[in-house]
Amino acid sequence: DAKDKGKNHYRIFDYILTERMAKRVELERSMRTALERDEFALYFQPLICAKTGKVVGAEALIRWFRPGHGMVSPGEFIPIAEETGLIVDIDHWVLRTACKHQKQWQAQGFEPIQISVNLSTRQFQEPNFLERVRHVVEDTGVDLSWIGFEITESLIMQNVDYAIKVLNELRDMGSIISIDDFGTGYSSLAYLKKFPIDKLKIDRTFVRDITTHAEDEAITKTIITLAKSLLLKVVAEGVETIDQIEKLRHLECDEFQGFYFSRPVPVEEFTHMLSPRVR
Ligand code: C2E
Ligand code: MG
Ligand code: MG
Ligand code: MG
Repeated sequence: DAKDKGKNHYRIFDYILTERMAKRVELERSMRTALERDEFALYFQPLICAKTGKVVGAEALIRWFRPGHGMVSPGEFIPIAEETGLIVDIDHWVLRTACKHQKQWQAQGFEPIQISVNLSTRQFQEPNFLERVRHVVEDTGVDLSWIGFEITESLIMQNVDYAIKVLNELRDMGSIISIDDFGTGYSSLAYLKKFPIDKLKIDRTFVRDITTHAEDEAITKTIITLAKSLLLKVVAEGVETIDQIEKLRHLECDEFQGFYFSRPVPVEEFTHMLSPRVR
């Protein structure tokens, strides 16, 4: 009867839930050993200057090649790594690896470009975060004025005073700070002028429909105007078509990042995009 049916539904639901949790526990477990087993790779995606068309920077993006599963996207494992706290070690590895490559490229005589890494809230809130950054700088000998940090609005808003203090210290060491996915969070405009930041990265959801949806064009235009009046650089994320580029150029966006120019690529491939130093 109806009561039994109900029970059955619960059983099926229970089964799906258990299976999902088992998968997650398994993912967590293999993530714990992924660093030691050298399963992560750092990819780089170029940032293009709107005026010159040159590669002026790159974002470092992590990739996980999980044995037996192929590539797991960061969208899948980063949130879990954040919940478990594993993100702290992972992001530390990302920073170290990015600095190592940056140092190497400069030693090889390439024109220096800005390399940015993503900061997770957990890593940022670690009491010894700045100490660990200094340690990496000492170890790799990198010039931090060529390493930038990408943060989200929610990271700042969680503890405004702490964020301002830490960001100021990073900037004192020479780094530039970008706000990632700008426009999707809840940062207040009043705070924006107080934050020690250098760049806004317009979220790709606004860029996507910029040529077809008037609202998205209006939002993008507003973000660019805001950035200019606060003397911040502005980057468009997720640029995929020439029409988007034309519109963004017209709106005086400073830099582009997206599949139109390049997907995130492995180090060797990215090295081909660098140009030799002129002097
Ligand atoms: P994000 O920091 O906003 O990075 C940009 C994402 O947009 C990347 O996804 C990139 O591959 C993708 N993308 C770039 N251009 C285009 C485009 O033209 N079209 C489309 N559809 N997508 C584009 P990815 O690499 O999958 O990373 C997703 C997110 O995972 C990142 O978003 C970032 O929040 C996080 N993430 C990636 N690597 C790291 C890391 O090393 N540490 C931390 N904490 N988070 C990371
Ligand atoms: Mg980013
Ligand atoms: Mg982004
Ligand atoms: Mg994003």
